[in-house]
Amino acid sequence: MALIGPAVLCVFSLAFLWAWVIERRRHYLLLLAAAPALFAIAVTIQVFFWPPSVPANAVLSGVFYTLAVQVAAEGVLRRSGKRLGRAWHLCAFAAVMGGLWYFAYLVPNLLARVYLQNFGYGFVLLVSSLQLTPLMRGRPVDRVLFWVLFVFGLHFFPRTILTIGVEAPGDVRIFQDSLFWQAMHLSLAVLGAALATALLAATLSDVIDDLRRERDSDGLTGLLNRRAFEQRAGAVLAATGDAPCALLVCDLDHFKRINDSHGHGAGDEVLSAFGRLLRRLSHENDLVARIGGEEFAILLPGAAEAAGQALAERARSGLSGLVVSFAPSGGAVTASFGIAEHQPGDSLSELFTRADRRLYLAKAGGRDCAVADDAAASPVPGAVSAAALGASSAPAPR
Ligand code: GH3
Ligand code: MG
Ligand code: MG
Repeated sequence: MALIGPAVLCVFSLAFLWAWVIERRRHYLLLLAAAPALFAIAVTIQVFFWPPSVPANAVLSGVFYTLAVQVAAEGVLRRSGKRLGRAWHLCAFAAVMGGLWYFAYLVPNLLARVYLQNFGYGFVLLVSSLQLTPLMRGRPVDRVLFWVLFVFGLHFFPRTILTIGVEAPGDVRIFQDSLFWQAMHLSLAVLGAALATALLAATLSDVIDDLRRERDSDGLTGLLNRRAFEQRAGAVLAATGDAPCALLVCDLDHFKRINDSHGHGAGDEVLSAFGRLLRRLSHENDLVARIGGEEFAILLPGAAEAAGQALAERARSGLSGLVVSFAPSGGAVTASFGIAEHQPGDSLSELFTRADRRLYLAKAGGRDCAVADDAAASPVPGAVSAAALGASSAPAPR
């Protein structure tokens, strides 16, 4: 019966190991696999009372308990890109193990050992949970993880005081039947399982979020891909109501020539540089996407057509200074833009069709210009409305 705990710990250890085999770049999973295994070893050492000497057993099991807690804390922190640091861990380990050694060999005192270990482990877990307070503003799964870790750390203090008080049983055999021992194993089983489950759920959510990001983004530029753009833009328009919302579509001019003269790699370089430029010029809540080979779209929620024109002008002037590793034949890389504003009742495809028609007019009118008006029969290169003046590289206020 006493080995049920270690067996359950091994199952959690294997679960984290399996998760690491699937997601090897998440190194923290190895720490999370090691922690329950170390804890299981510590419990087994105590249950079998090996080595059969009280101080040696206390110190050896203490090594594994302490390592288990520190490794678990470090694993949870690393998942969030944080860490306690080697010096911190060395000090914590030396403090707990030094005290254990002292109260096992030099001044044998079971009560002191119990308080030292429980308060020490509670302290390590509480400090770790306090490092993770930003998780409280995160996804539900992150909030659950924070609170489980916090309660886990905190519980060591009242549980120890309430179940052992100020007097420990004199004999180790009696100690293993004490209220303290039973309460400790029950609470560690319940909270340990809750922490492991919260961590597995958080890892699963991380993996799903990564897959979603990969599914929604364009591999070359990191912008949204067409599918994600259409899905998100549709949702924005559905929620837009009477508020303005502009759509800008653009297409690099004579892009085929860049590929033909400088190679496909050079073309890719231009695409990523242009993608970065558009991202830099846009506001945070704009949807910026690469919707085709050398075609891009930006939805500007809350912005009128004039803001779309201004953005197009900034993109044109940014393109004139685009830094690439080759000298494009025929001068600077240029692009043509079509801009349309959402009208009440417009679907995304109607808005798109209007912006696309204007892009076509921009191409037909000589390229390297922006068109925001169906009547612009033959736009002058670079011509945009007065609202488009100003060429700052920072997103302009709307
Ligand atoms: P226009 O001014 O009329 O838009 O002419 P264009 O040459 O830009 O347009 P066209 O449609 O003739 O050619 C687009 C080229 O873009 C053809 C295709 O090989 C290239 N292309 C599409 N996707 C990629 C890509 O991912 N990387 C690179 N390097 N080229 C691409
Ligand atoms: Mg083109
Ligand atoms: Mg094209």
